[in-house]
Amino acid sequence: MKHFESLPAAEEVLSLLKTLPREELYELAHETTRRHAPERFDFCAIVSARQGRCSEDCKWCAQSAHWKTGCEAHGWIGSEACAKAAQEAGASGVRRIGIVTSGRGQTDAQIDEICAALGRMSSSSRIELCASLGLVTREQLVRLKAAGLRRIHCNIETAPSRFSRLCTTHTFEEKLATIRAARELGFEVCCGGIIGMGESDEELVEFAFALREIAPDSIPVNILHPIEGTPLGGEKRLDIDRILTAIAVLRIANPATPLRFAGGRRDLTDDEARRCIYVGINAGIAGPLLTTPGADYDDDRALAREAGYEV
Ligand code: SF4
Repeated sequence: MKHFESLPAAEEVLSLLKTLPREELYELAHETTRRHAPERFDFCAIVSARQGRCSEDCKWCAQSAHWKTGCEAHGWIGSEACAKAAQEAGASGVRRIGIVTSGRGQTDAQIDEICAALGRMSSSSRIELCASLGLVTREQLVRLKAAGLRRIHCNIETAPSRFSRLCTTHTFEEKLATIRAARELGFEVCCGGIIGMGESDEELVEFAFALREIAPDSIPVNILHPIEGTPLGGEKRLDIDRILTAIAVLRIANPATPLRFAGGRRDLTDDEARRCIYVGINAGIAGPLLTTPGADYDDDRALAREAGYEV
């Protein structure tokens, strides 16, 4: 089976994408996964700690206050609820839990609340702690680290050249600044995005290689689940071949990084999910996601084991 002896360049991957029959592209990605990706299928969970009423205008997002989506909004759920979610996730065998909040970023008072929750979560469970808090300053990151946070999630969402067409209230560079500061302070970084937002082949490759440059510890792969009321509500859902193609490109560009099933997983049949795992998915999110249902943890564990992964 063909495989790359060294990391391929973006032009090389784009040329494969344009010329190789799809099944061969999938085989190449499968071989890359087999040779380089971890043998353990990594599961994490998330707790939606503040949801909706977001000031930002991300065109895909049900939580933006700019769109009428009927998304259920709630304020900060409190330390106790975060600690309970961590205990439950830990008991189900999940390795890590992420606190997720809507919004552009956090005020210092909100960071106080999150730090208190992290303290409660660490004292009541041994689970690793992650957080997805939007744009976070270096000073805030220092405080979060001291409170026990190990990983920061911040998606670049799409190809850098496309970002400003999908969100105008913050920039790609602002996201990168959060990611860079987190890296410099020794955090693990989880960073990925959404496929199915109208990206071309060139933009898909650009996205995959922007991620390679960031070198995240985990890449969440969301498949757009078009939400009525958002500007992308009328997008067609991706067909399985485009999903597999995107996973293959992400895998070939990022051979050793966990590629994580995230939003949109529930729209796939088990057979489609099986094919995604074959091509390159090797991580998942257990339990419900933010505004769309997640995969059933038991289903995904079974599929991962069937594919030969330790779970
Ligand atoms: S993706 Fe995040 S920042 Fe953008 S609208 Fe949704 S919650 Fe707000």
